[in-house]
This record gives sequence, C-alpha cells and structure tokens, in this order.
Amino acid sequence: MSSDEQIKQEIIDTVRMYSANGLGVGTAGNLSARTERGFLVTPTGVSYDALEPGLLVELNEAGDVISGHLKPSSEWRFHRDIYLERKEAGSIVHVHSPFATAIACNRKSIPAFHYVIAIAGGDSIRCADYATFGTEELSLHVVKALKDRKACLMANHGMIALDKDISSAFKLAIEIEELAKQYFYSLQIGELVILDKEEMQINLEKFKSYGKQT
Ligand code: 13P
Ligand code: ZN
Repeated sequence: MSSDEQIKQEIIDTVRMYSANGLGVGTAGNLSARTERGFLVTPTGVSYDALEPGLLVELNEAGDVISGHLKPSSEWRFHRDIYLERKEAGSIVHVHSPFATAIACNRKSIPAFHYVIAIAGGDSIRCADYATFGTEELSLHVVKALKDRKACLMANHGMIALDKDISSAFKLAIEIEELAKQYFYSLQIGELVILDKEEMQINLEKFKSYGKQT
C-alpha cells in the first residue's frame, strides 16, 4: 500500500470508531489528515459505516479538490485553515461528542478544573465563538480558539482536536470528551476549585515528559 492508501484506510478505520468511543453518531463530525499535496478529508454527509477509502476527497492548500468524486466535508475550510496555521498538525478530528457539545452549547470554555487540561497545551480549553457550520467565519473563530492549544470547543456545535497524526488526534479527542464529562459532573456539585496559573505551569512542564519511558 502507498502511504496515501494507508492514510485513507486509517481515516476510515478511525471515523468508524467515533460511535463506539462516544464521539458521535450518524454523519456528525469529520476527519482529515495532511498529505504531500494538501490534505485528505471525509466527504460531506456520508455516514461513518458507509465510508470507504475511495470516497475520501483530497484538497490542496487553495481549497481545490485534487482527487475524489464526492464533495468534501462542509467543514473543509477550517481543516484547510488549521493546516495552514499549524504546521505541526498532521490530522484534525472534529466531533459532536455529547459532553463537549453540552458545554459548548452553553458557550463555556473548560477551565483548569483538573490538571489533565494541560493535555490540550494550556490552562484551559477555549470555546470558539459561534458561526454557521461550514463558513469562513467559523474557520476564523476556531483558528483563534486553537491558538497555543491542540483542542477547542465550538459554540453550539462540538469540538476539534489536532495532533501530529491520526491516532494521536483521535486519542486527544477521546481525552477532551472525558474531561468535558468530568467538568459537566463537577459543575453539578457546585463547589468547583480551579487550579491557579502557577500550578498549571508546573503541570504543563510535567506533561512534556509524562508517559515517555526513555
Ligand atoms: P460534514 O458531513 O459535511 O463533514 O458535516 C458534519 C459536521 O460535523 C459539520 O459541522
Ligand atoms: Zn460539526
């Protein structure tokens, strides 16, 4: 298999795991991965289980379709703009997972209620301002909310996670949904304590080496 074929298969395998991992149902969300010529993205409106490698669409940096027969995800703009802005991003996962979406529908960012918030690169996971799905305006908002972060919520919509490759971006999306769930439950009790900037700075430093065995 060529590397593009491997990437295509990995995209399909990963999107098919969205439901089982509580990240969404139906056609909600999408996934892309950077290629040499631009990026591959899921087609618009095709349900996860109907996806096949041959249905994926490749776009270049200008946003032109360079391979594939279907229309790309309606969110191709924010995928394109994130790749332009964030050279370290190799894959972008977008989902409407229930807990992240519930918080985003209240237009709340997730503060440092738990030290694992550092996994997204800072002391909060911001909620991007609202704009209609598929618009340039939404793209501007999410790029801004992702500044110095690998994930953000999207007002009245869902969540985005990016990382160096598909499996890392997918794992990060699962972690963010878990944090959103923990935050949701913590809010019910009503006496949430937020970690201060100094403590989060320590956690951010520790995260740089956390989990590395060598
Ligand atoms: P697409 O099917 O066009 O990717 O749309 C799903 C979605 O989540 C839009 O925000
Ligand atoms: Zn969406």
